[in-house]
Amino acid sequence: MIQKTAALLGASLLALATPAFADDVAHDDHVDTLLADGEAAAPASALPTISFGTWGFDPAYLATDIKPGDDFNAYANKRWIDANPLPPEFSRIGAFVLLGEKSTADVKALMDELVAKDPASLSGDERRILDTYRTFLDTAAIEAAGLAPAQPFLDTIKRATTLNQLAMLWAAPGYASPIGGGVSIDAKQPDRHIATVGFGGLGMPDRDYYLDTTEKGRAIQAKYKAYLAFLLGEAGYADAAAMAEKVYAFEDANARTVQWDRAVRRNRDLTYNLLTADELAAIGGKVPVKAMIAAIGIENSPGFVVGQMPPTKEEIDALKLDSATLAKIGTGLPGMFALIGETPVEVLKAWMIKEFLSGNAAVLPARFDAASFEFYGKTLRGTPEQRPRWKRAIGEAEGLLGELIGKEYVARYFPPENKAAMDELVATLRVSLGQSIDEITWMGEETKAQARAKLASFDPKIGYRPNLETYEGLAITAGNPIANRMAAARWGQADNIAKLGQPIDRTEWGMLPQTVNAYYNSVKNEIVFPAGILQRPFFALSNDIAVNYGAIGGVIGHEIGHGFDDQGSKSDASGALRNWWTDADRKAFDDLGNRLVAQYNSFCPLDEGKTCVNGRLTLGENIGDVGGLSMAYRAYKIATKGKDVPVIDGLNGDQRFFLAWAQVWRSTQREENYRNRLRTDSHSPEEYRVNGVVRNLDEWYEAFGVKPGDAMYLPPEQRVRIW
Ligand SMILES: [Zn+2]
Repeated sequence: MIQKTAALLGASLLALATPAFADDVAHDDHVDTLLADGEAAAPASALPTISFGTWGFDPAYLATDIKPGDDFNAYANKRWIDANPLPPEFSRIGAFVLLGEKSTADVKALMDELVAKDPASLSGDERRILDTYRTFLDTAAIEAAGLAPAQPFLDTIKRATTLNQLAMLWAAPGYASPIGGGVSIDAKQPDRHIATVGFGGLGMPDRDYYLDTTEKGRAIQAKYKAYLAFLLGEAGYADAAAMAEKVYAFEDANARTVQWDRAVRRNRDLTYNLLTADELAAIGGKVPVKAMIAAIGIENSPGFVVGQMPPTKEEIDALKLDSATLAKIGTGLPGMFALIGETPVEVLKAWMIKEFLSGNAAVLPARFDAASFEFYGKTLRGTPEQRPRWKRAIGEAEGLLGELIGKEYVARYFPPENKAAMDELVATLRVSLGQSIDEITWMGEETKAQARAKLASFDPKIGYRPNLETYEGLAITAGNPIANRMAAARWGQADNIAKLGQPIDRTEWGMLPQTVNAYYNSVKNEIVFPAGILQRPFFALSNDIAVNYGAIGGVIGHEIGHGFDDQGSKSDASGALRNWWTDADRKAFDDLGNRLVAQYNSFCPLDEGKTCVNGRLTLGENIGDVGGLSMAYRAYKIATKGKDVPVIDGLNGDQRFFLAWAQVWRSTQREENYRNRLRTDSHSPEEYRVNGVVRNLDEWYEAFGVKPGDAMYLPPEQRVRIW
């Protein structure tokens, strides 16, 4: 979680590096990632492998007994999936995850070189990296130290006797906080920074886990309470079970009354609420809001953006919010202040203590790590075995000093030719979208002019940022992993708060060079592709061109597509949150989106058709996929125009294009993980990122001869074509 927070700090809503906020950070208002992170699994020894054959896709995997039109994902991927059962360390495995494992192994090779070096010859930066890694790995020392390294922080929490004192800790880096503040780019004035104030407070991944009344849901709640009781018992509470009930009740009230439904929370018309400090203090109730924002260092911000503020009557009317939507909107930040005000200080302290222990379980004695994994790994994801320590140690070092490591990573692993090839791919995708904007009939000329301006202002970032972070002043203490985490939290908060009043740093990235992922950031209108993802299955210089366009081309299209998805489309060419659509065009676009919502709502993979994909929660990602792949297809045609496209292994270019897209999503997962992600992940499950997408593209029907009667067949009038 620290890793995630550090990686996204520049664009995060909240600056506190605690588990309570990791969720909000990961689902940042304006950053869309290609794949949700938080994958807590990796192999102990033998990894499954994927052959990419000679041109980027190995046709030996094709399930020739399955008609592509019946189940395209199975046609492309089932053979590999059937031959590669999930190793016990994984909650999910596939092409994407395995490339992430390769990145970890590549960083490990760099780390091994540092380990082998004469200590006297290590540079200061090398020593910091190595100390972070080794300190995390040294479980004997962690065991021997017991709770001693955590004790000063636990004691600080225990010493507090008033809400005012607790609020000062919530402002301090490294302590878990149910409410917090940080600095972000102002979504409505993206040339300036502004303070944000938000809240978290749930120990389970989503409010739905608290509301669940099924047998499975109740069993998870019971296990969570047992975990809380364990943590509080370790912290010295005499009646830990009773206090665990009170802490749970605090979170439960938060889930039931305060938190918004995850899908509604995506609506940017509802989540930009600019308040003054006085207005903030007025809703603060017993919480000393002004003292808290002063302690954080954001008191001089030109305003305070709050995500979850209940809509006013005027907003409800203007946005035509129906009763079903309103029922999903909690009391938000005012409600959170009120809940805190009515919760005994002793309960808030216990909540902070369990958060501190849970958030740092990986660097506490093994019983903490095991208990954390038992709940978050086994119960919530179905993963039988903990990820090997060395991989987690790489993750720790990347979380604390990731860009320092990234500097070595790109020097070793990122060929400059990759950047040149990507520049060309991105340029062709832009030409493709430009042609689509010219041709589409659902958008009028007035809106098209704005869309073209937005397309022209896209800022592509490829490989790594040139001025990688040096973490100046972040001191690493060999042998004390908690001290290192607290130091990183201090450094991160100071770095974040210092942005206030400063110009926007357009060179800053929200991902590390070695990260296998990509993102779109609406306030900068940027699409970002780290070096880590520019490998197979996504990309290789030696790949067939159809494969590169179907894979990384589809990903580029996906990220550009976020600029025009249901929420990204609310930002203009400058990145400003502003309606640039005519009413008629917006309605036409919303209608296309609503049809996709209905399509994806009908994908119900679990419980005999009763547990389904949430089409509204995943709409932005699905628009990215459907629009992005059609963009990539057109770009592929542009790139191969007038060229002889050969048949390879019996597959023509169009077929190879679509198979490359399917291969990216070749994946399987455990049922518990599946349930978790259906609830929390804004991305559709992998099989629908294949089948849900291609069935909307006429070109796929032609490529594979898909006909009425085939299971995936959609009549042309039901296909959704955005670009
Ligand atoms: Zn995305």
